[in-house]
Amino acid sequence: METSKRPKSSHCSGINCNNSRQFTPELSFFRFPKDVERCMRWVINCRRQDLLDKMKTDPITTTQQLYKSNVLCAEHFEEKQFMNAIQRKSLIPLAVPTLFKICNPPPPETSKRKSPLKRKLEVHDSAMKKKKKMSCDSEAGPSSSLPIVHGDPDETSESDASALKIEAMRKQIAALRSKVKARDKKIATLSDKIQSMEQTNQQKFIQSLPSSAQAFIESQLQASGRSKTGRRWSIAEKKLAITLYHSSPKTYKILRQ
Ligand SMILES: [Zn+2]
Repeated sequence: METSKRPKSSHCSGINCNNSRQFTPELSFFRFPKDVERCMRWVINCRRQDLLDKMKTDPITTTQQLYKSNVLCAEHFEEKQFMNAIQRKSLIPLAVPTLFKICNPPPPETSKRKSPLKRKLEVHDSAMKKKKKMSCDSEAGPSSSLPIVHGDPDETSESDASALKIEAMRKQIAALRSKVKARDKKIATLSDKIQSMEQTNQQKFIQSLPSSAQAFIESQLQASGRSKTGRRWSIAEKKLAITLYHSSPKTYKILRQ
């Protein structure tokens, strides 16, 4: 019994498929997806140029129309696309149709895909075949050369996945390296700042002292770069040291350090 929720068409929209609810009631029929992107995959795989043209012109409206009115029969889905492969009553969430009666049907949805190079070669090969076989019995004509889109979550082959991972990791390393570089620069700038601030502080401290003490400290600082035995004092400095010692031995001892 037809319910109001059922799509208008009871005929399968698959290319070269005559199945309908009326004549093949044993088959399940599935609405086109509501999601525009997924609907586009179905349309591409269906190889229906008319539907594809509509999708390209107005994807949102066409998706809504297809969802309301069009169906595909269970014959266009591989076993693993069903929740239950025996009953074949409902599809997995991201199911994609791949089985069509055309001269170059979409490749099956297998978990172990061929290498990307092999797939590229196959696409090239099928394009060459198409040129030779323009008399192919497809209603869709030129659309039969459309590349097939796979929507299965495990569609990406292991090599594809690891190549992507490597690329992502490389990017991460480059980003981390530039971060480290920036931090090193910051550290260098900060230590320069500290050094100049320390020098300024030292100068300020010396300037705050009486001029005799300033001269003494400056001579001491200059001497600090030389070895103990290499230190030579001017007569004025020696006099100052003696004067300091006589007036306040404590100050002399402090300054000596
Ligand atoms: Zn069908």
